[in-house]
Amino acid sequence: MKFEHDNMVGVRLAVSLVNLEASGSWRAEALQQVLERHAIRRARVTGSAGEEIREWSRRLRPVFEAVSQDERCETVNALLADGAGRVYLTTHDGLRPHLHFAPDGKDVQSRVRAVTAGGLAIFAMEAEGRRLGVCALDSCRKAFADTSRNGRRAYCGARCANTDAVRRHRMKQG
Ligand SMILES: [Zn+2]
Ligand SMILES: [Zn+2]
Repeated sequence: MKFEHDNMVGVRLAVSLVNLEASGSWRAEALQQVLERHAIRRARVTGSAGEEIREWSRRLRPVFEAVSQDERCETVNALLADGAGRVYLTTHDGLRPHLHFAPDGKDVQSRVRAVTAGGLAIFAMEAEGRRLGVCALDSCRKAFADTSRNGRRAYCGARCANTDAVRRHRMKQG
């Protein structure tokens, strides 16, 4: 399975927003950086946009925490219902044809809702409902999208996997 970059923007942005929300350091500048890092165009956050995106980010987390395929589909469908508009193909900025879920002229919060809802839907479909999760280390619980070959990731990264391995090893000895 190959996860095309153009289709991954929404998923990667969703991961970053969920983790920024959970980090306790949600600030306008941090949000601004996340949007720019994920190549969201016209990403200037003004007025109520920041708070609206924060509320939306709280709604993204259950997609990663879902424990069954049905639950995951339901959570994504609720996001699509509230966040996605007319779907169309575009080739802006020389990119390969990819789907957009909101008109280009919409405000940044609407486009963030649309790209994350749509991106999660496409990813869930391609990954057969799997490969989205939260870190198995209780003290972490960061969201992740697993694009690894075997798709069996349980931790957000190597550091948490090691921490948990050490902890389990100690428990066995203790
Ligand atoms: Zn695009
Ligand atoms: Zn972790």
